[in-house]
Amino acid sequence: MSNNTSPGQGPHRRFDNRPKFGSDGDLLTLLRGLEGKTYGAYQGTAGQWDYGSFKVIIDRVQADPYAPPSSVRIVSTPKTMGLPREAVSTADQALATSDFLIRAFARVLKSADRYAPLSIARPSQEILERSAAHITPSRVELRIQVQLPARGRSILGLRAAEIFDLDLPEAVNQTFNFVSPESASYLEDLLRHIRTLEDHCALQGALAKNKWVGFIANGAVLPRRTGISQAPLEGAVPFKSPETLLQTVTLPHAGEVEGMAIPPGITVIVGGGYHGKSTLLSALERGVYPHVPGDGRELVAALPDAMKIRAADGRPVTKVDVSPFINHLPTGADTRVFSTQNASGSTSQAASIIEALGMRSPLLLIDEDTSATNLMIRDDRMRKLVSPESEPITPLVDRIQALAGGGSGTSLVLVMGGSGAYLDVADRVLQMSSYHCEDVTNQARAVVEALSRPRTDLPDFPSLSARAPLRLRGGGAGKPKTRTFGLEKINLDRQTIDVSDVEQIVDPGQTEAIAWALRGVLQTEANARKPLADLLRELEKNIDEDGLDYLTRFGVRKYPAFLARPRAIDVAAAINRYRLLEIT
Ligand code: ADP
Ligand code: MG
Repeated sequence: MSNNTSPGQGPHRRFDNRPKFGSDGDLLTLLRGLEGKTYGAYQGTAGQWDYGSFKVIIDRVQADPYAPPSSVRIVSTPKTMGLPREAVSTADQALATSDFLIRAFARVLKSADRYAPLSIARPSQEILERSAAHITPSRVELRIQVQLPARGRSILGLRAAEIFDLDLPEAVNQTFNFVSPESASYLEDLLRHIRTLEDHCALQGALAKNKWVGFIANGAVLPRRTGISQAPLEGAVPFKSPETLLQTVTLPHAGEVEGMAIPPGITVIVGGGYHGKSTLLSALERGVYPHVPGDGRELVAALPDAMKIRAADGRPVTKVDVSPFINHLPTGADTRVFSTQNASGSTSQAASIIEALGMRSPLLLIDEDTSATNLMIRDDRMRKLVSPESEPITPLVDRIQALAGGGSGTSLVLVMGGSGAYLDVADRVLQMSSYHCEDVTNQARAVVEALSRPRTDLPDFPSLSARAPLRLRGGGAGKPKTRTFGLEKINLDRQTIDVSDVEQIVDPGQTEAIAWALRGVLQTEANARKPLADLLRELEKNIDEDGLDYLTRFGVRKYPAFLARPRAIDVAAAINRYRLLEIT
């Protein structure tokens, strides 16, 4: 095939960047011919280059050596690669295989310095739908970046040819080869990755079927190596269920698995400091996602829409009905439609609870370490000293039974080591003791009887009205700007959205996808009538159908390579933290 033209030949454009078609040999010839030319001439390499067992598609060529590297897709077929049918047949299999190939390619790139010009998204410990790979039963696509080499601003064409002649094909061949006899263990790793995902999905299915809210398998390793690493802690005490909550589930691959099944209702985790309470809660929090083999939390699951709730003073709140928890504020504000650009610890946490309920979260996870004490409890002495009229806050302990028992049937798992106030509202009390989990519900009942407190519970949890966002116009003057920073921050035009308290955003690719989804929902799909929950249900459906590429309609560059699928409830959390949000 040859509609090749040499760069710079067109009469009207400086560089010919019409996409070309050719063989790998054509690409190499083209690159060598660019030696010494000005950097922009690289534009002429955009196109589709056939390497035989795969194609290299150069979609976007970086404008200069300091710009983000060029976008390249590698395309092959499961058949050519030797992928078995059970790696690509179902959506779950394709998802796991995609996730696996991204990690495998990243591992190859790390194995030698000469791969430095190549890069790919760096996945977290969770197996997620990611835009860096897309697999169907008949096609495999990997999206990578290539730093095209230069000295100053002149092209190093011979070096570029080397990358596309040796480094890139070698990295691809190592990643895409499931055929040769030496790759038997590689294939075994892939199948384990798929089985791990399928078992986690089945475990979440078992939660729904048995009306449990969470499950932690015996033998699971919950603690992480350090506060900033998600790798498993070596030498950790493996999890073991107390007898009273021990259940067996049957999973498609792991078979019969024993572990702790958490029933619905109110579960309170107590125990001395440093005994593993927060670690247990964090594992549940992350249990909404499947984890890679070897993580230790492969068989830890929580209901998919479980939401970690914490205080985040300073966050904005837009027309949230916080009246179940906050009333008669000194400002006189109507707390049924409470707004602020600067919430306190307690109001921020109250708003986060109400927002999660608005998204119909079936399970709230709360840790004393990150909670506003005054929203959680108020003791008898304080009730005597500060009269009810001058205390706007109704603590959660007074509403929790109505919340858990009401129509919504929301369950809660709370870590509460510092106060006994929740002992008489808990359906069960678990104690972490030197990293062992014990059921101390009966002991707790005895304590409650011996040391009773006057009950202050309120009988009802008011029903909440739906919140419908208004459509927002774009960022005003200038080109729209979307940027994200790790798990913490989104910059949208001139606004910064702090999502650092949304703890179940676990992969930077999710933050990026959330940024685009937020733009799409608020600038395109909101109409002042549809409740936020409905808007996000539609978004979810669209991503189910079109994949993460659905987000390109909101301005993501074509063939995005760094997105990971967020939960709809976390997109909602980000929207709720957007300072320009308007609600009818
Ligand atoms: P708490 O919330 O009860 O104060 P944490 O959950 O923060 O305690 O755990 C305290 C420390 O113990 C952390 O460094 C954590 O990594 C470690 N840890 C937690 N669970 C285990 C375990 N099962 N085995 C070994 N170390 C653990
Ligand atoms: Mg703790």
